[in-house]
Amino acid sequence: MKKVNAHLHALHKSYLFSEIARKTQEYQAAFPSAQLLRLGIGDVSRPLASAVVRALCAAGEEMGRTETFRGYGPAQGYPFLREAVAASYRKMGAGIDAEDVFVSDGAKGDCASLPELLDFQSVIAVCDPVYPVYADSARMAGHPILFLPCREENGFFPEIPEETPAAVYLCSPNNPTGVAFSHEQLAPWVSWAQKNNVLLIFDSAYRDYVRSKDRVGSLFELPGAKEIGIECCSLSKGAGFTGLRCGWTVVPRENRWGLHDLWLKRQSTKTNGVAYPVQRAAEAALTEGAADCARDVAYYMESASLLRQSLEKAGYTLFGGEDAPYLWLKTPQGQSGWEWFDTLLKEKQIISTPGEGFGTQGAGFIRLSALGAREEIEEAARRLSAR
Ligand code: PLP
Repeated sequence: MKKVNAHLHALHKSYLFSEIARKTQEYQAAFPSAQLLRLGIGDVSRPLASAVVRALCAAGEEMGRTETFRGYGPAQGYPFLREAVAASYRKMGAGIDAEDVFVSDGAKGDCASLPELLDFQSVIAVCDPVYPVYADSARMAGHPILFLPCREENGFFPEIPEETPAAVYLCSPNNPTGVAFSHEQLAPWVSWAQKNNVLLIFDSAYRDYVRSKDRVGSLFELPGAKEIGIECCSLSKGAGFTGLRCGWTVVPRENRWGLHDLWLKRQSTKTNGVAYPVQRAAEAALTEGAADCARDVAYYMESASLLRQSLEKAGYTLFGGEDAPYLWLKTPQGQSGWEWFDTLLKEKQIISTPGEGFGTQGAGFIRLSALGAREEIEEAARRLSAR
């Protein structure tokens, strides 16, 4: 083959988690009895709700009987799940129609594929620091990227740029900084997008973690957002589906560029959807299992709150942890995130994620995840408090 996609070569080598793993393995080999606390990776630790497991097994049984067997499902997902998703939006005060829901195997793939809706030359804006998928997948497709700095002085919220991009990714509650948009902070983005013809891609993968009344759970809580917005969401963090895989993207038919029909075309061309038993499990997570899933989210948020309070008491400067399971900690003596990562590993046996892994503006910060077991979080709080 003569030509490969040169944009793949241009991608920053994603060494973040492999570098963390390498450093951790080296340390563990040198100190085999060390009790390492893993607060680096943002994966969940609670098992699936029993209603979800029941639905998964029952649907598996259905697949094994001639009368109830199902082959290919509808390209957009089964109506029973799209209805359950739409009902979950109605509870948040966002009137989403089931027709506008596209079921997928999670938010990551959808976030990564949405730039296909745009002309490949068009500029895509992302926050810095950022969940790396947005920037890397836009880069892979050859889009120029505009970075929107999110700094301590602006509370880690981006400012509306002077240059007008074709699309902007916004993530709330945010990974990695843990902050979430209020209605007042998000409303100017919607008005600006309407006025300047900008597509807003809103990632609400952590919507179930919102605790503060004034913070949004969905872009579609804002009037006018359906015209210019698309939302990606997932059951990974709200229902423990990181291993099961199910999410969705909402592309309203009101979209002013006709993106609903184009996304339908794209999806039916490129995917045959999500396994029937997984869609039944997802339906259960949003209906009869919802209370159990909410209890698990509450568990993680209690851990976040416990960690936050202990660290504040110990004098750390930190952000997030109130509407998201992530704490964004400033390094105490102006070290880089990687330097403090090394210190925490060697002196406290705690694994964190260096802020530099999320963008240049992440330098001087680390991310701690509260998604692990409570005992680990309590022990991490104790070790970090003993300064
Ligand atoms: N969006 C954000 C902001 C995330 O942090 C993650 C996972 O960590 C995802 C999307 C991916 O979610 P999913 O497991 O649904 O692909």
